[in-house]
Amino acid sequence: MAGGVLRVAVPTPLRKLFDYRPPDGRAATDVAIGTRVRVPFGRRHLVGIVAAHAGHAEVEGGRLKSVQEVLDDVPVFPPELFELIDWAAGYYHHSLGEALSTALPALLRRGEAGDARGEAIYGLSATGRAAAADPPARAPRQAALLARLAEAGEGLSRAQLDAEEGDWAGPLRALRDKGWLAVTHRSCLPPPAASTVDGPEPNGEQHAAIAAITAAHGYQGFLLDGVTGSGKTEVYLRAIGAVLAQDRQALVLVPEIGLTPQLVERFRARLAVPIAVLHSGLNDSERLCAWQQAASGEARVVIGTRSAAFTPLPAPGLFILDEEHDASFKQQDGFRYSARDVLLLRGRRLGLPVVLGSATPSLESLHNVARGRLTRLRLSVRAGGARAPRMRLLDMRARTLRGGLAPLLWESIEKHLGEDGQVLLFLNRRGYAPVLSCHDCGWLPPCPRCDAHLVVHQRDNRLRCHHCGHEQALPRACPDCGSERLQPLGQGTERLEQELRKRFPDQTVLRIDRDSTRRKGALHEALEEARSGRARLLVGTQMLAKGHHFPDVTLVGIVDADGGLFGADFRAPERMAQQIVQVAGRAGRATRLGEVLIQTHSPEHPLLQSLIGNDYARLAEALLAERGAAMLPPFSAFALLRAEAHDSHIAQNFLRSAKREADRLGIAGVSILGPAPAAMTRRAGRHRFQLLLQSTDRAPLHRLLDAWLKRLDSLPSMRKVRWSLDVDPIEVS
Ligand code: ADP
Ligand code: ZN
Ligand code: ZN
Repeated sequence: MAGGVLRVAVPTPLRKLFDYRPPDGRAATDVAIGTRVRVPFGRRHLVGIVAAHAGHAEVEGGRLKSVQEVLDDVPVFPPELFELIDWAAGYYHHSLGEALSTALPALLRRGEAGDARGEAIYGLSATGRAAAADPPARAPRQAALLARLAEAGEGLSRAQLDAEEGDWAGPLRALRDKGWLAVTHRSCLPPPAASTVDGPEPNGEQHAAIAAITAAHGYQGFLLDGVTGSGKTEVYLRAIGAVLAQDRQALVLVPEIGLTPQLVERFRARLAVPIAVLHSGLNDSERLCAWQQAASGEARVVIGTRSAAFTPLPAPGLFILDEEHDASFKQQDGFRYSARDVLLLRGRRLGLPVVLGSATPSLESLHNVARGRLTRLRLSVRAGGARAPRMRLLDMRARTLRGGLAPLLWESIEKHLGEDGQVLLFLNRRGYAPVLSCHDCGWLPPCPRCDAHLVVHQRDNRLRCHHCGHEQALPRACPDCGSERLQPLGQGTERLEQELRKRFPDQTVLRIDRDSTRRKGALHEALEEARSGRARLLVGTQMLAKGHHFPDVTLVGIVDADGGLFGADFRAPERMAQQIVQVAGRAGRATRLGEVLIQTHSPEHPLLQSLIGNDYARLAEALLAERGAAMLPPFSAFALLRAEAHDSHIAQNFLRSAKREADRLGIAGVSILGPAPAAMTRRAGRHRFQLLLQSTDRAPLHRLLDAWLKRLDSLPSMRKVRWSLDVDPIEVS
């Protein structure tokens, strides 16, 4: 068929495709689905993806514009991946163009050439070298680039050029057009280790888990439910080994914070194959390169964070998602997908086993085990002989605290340090103190833009809002009454660090939180210092709690366990339990017995009682029963329509109209609650409200969302607010 029309997914929030004529002389069907095209869009040019072919356009022929340029010979999205993202865009009711764009490395998103041969290295051709000896006098930037490339000898990569001063893209094009460049390609993957180490011999439970995974024919979903330190990673490594032996690829997703150099080293030391790593620390060209090596099949193992769920793989054999309970697998803005659910679906469509691993499985996954959708594989003991830590609650009521810690905790710290142990204190609150208060009149500094108080950051002499980033100098006197008696109240990690330094001047104290690790690479250095045991006292937020292996830690102190007991979100108790079990799991991972002390004002709380019995499973069962009784997820499906505006009436009015529209659709089985204010109603100067849609069945909910969004698009009030739809939200407060 000559002619025809290309239906293009363009990265805009509009949930529709746009029609274009194929470029001169080509038939639409010559441009495969999943191919990038540059298209005129309004007054701009955007990079879109061909999503369908059609015989004729939906707009009148005269207004139909042509594709400006076809950017790929081979589609960047193979059919399997394109269809997966198309499904996900439908499920999350998001624009396909934006969803596809989210899945692409930034350089491809911007329309640059994808080259599966690896990273381009720019050097000089023979004529180029001659030109370098006699540089063009009237093109100083070209001359400078010539000189730079001549000096570099082996050539420079895009990343190296990026690090140079000035804009080199134009001169580079000029040199290429003159035939002065020689472009070679090199794999961006480090070569695999020449020899690998053997892992420990799997124990019985590990054996059973490995056998179950490798025996799966076609899709099967597993929940590898193994206590901290039980050797889940060993199971992954062996299962991956079996997949590699069949010449297939493995994809491993981990939370951002879990993707440490140690983890990658461990994989490299065990698997003698090229491994691509995709994480947020990569620059654009490194990311593109890792992505392409996965797509070309050169990388046999791909390790990445959330968005790596969308990596193209020509020969996939196994999908793994570690720490499956982790909230970072759900994207919280734009295309709000769950990488866990996407990966399960991808495995099902491709007919592959998918392994979700955790010491503290999400209630969703436990529910799926109960419904027979996931097969549970248990690792009930710590591998290598380490024992489960001993847990105790410290009743904080009527205790005189020093620096926020009970006397018994101070004594225990001293004892463990004395016995050459390492101590980890967990406090999920950064800064010096959560509030500053005037002793004379009770004034507390509010954030001018949020319904929140400013947090004291003593070291920088600042007050900061942890919600909008507002900051100001620490006042010397109360602006209300002039008193100079301003007291920081409560504990933050910065204050705790200071207390520890005062009390233990001879010990190295290391704080790990978002403030102390802002500089690129700082987190990895800090984790290394913690792991090596050089720092004896570790203080940190949840950054310190997740998945790390600190062999010397013998004492874990949880400074405040009460935060999660009475949180606004219905998931707060689940989160807190997971957090405590995960932090506690840092204790006694090697040969020495670990001890965990948990400070609380509610020691009789059943949740804490189950936790200290080292019985997450029983606790999760109780929480799941509560969810069932209240018909909360996973026993029902939620979707949240959020709206925010500078004027609170505008946000509320929009949601009221939206609710009326939904009611008019008359779809049974979906209840709509709200509009209700968000837990923090004003944030960064905007008033935030939400509508909660709840349904025991997904089908009517999605039927409603489909019809509803089309109607909302034509509501004038929609254009006055910032809104978003979150399907399966993980935060609803
Ligand atoms: P997890 O991923 O469950 O936290 P890891 O796989 O990191 O656990 O294992 C924890 C520690 O136990 C590691 O040092 C690992 O080498 C060791 N280990 C794992 N399996 C065994 C085993 N079967 N025998 C001896 N040591 C083991
Ligand atoms: Zn005052
Ligand atoms: Zn604020």
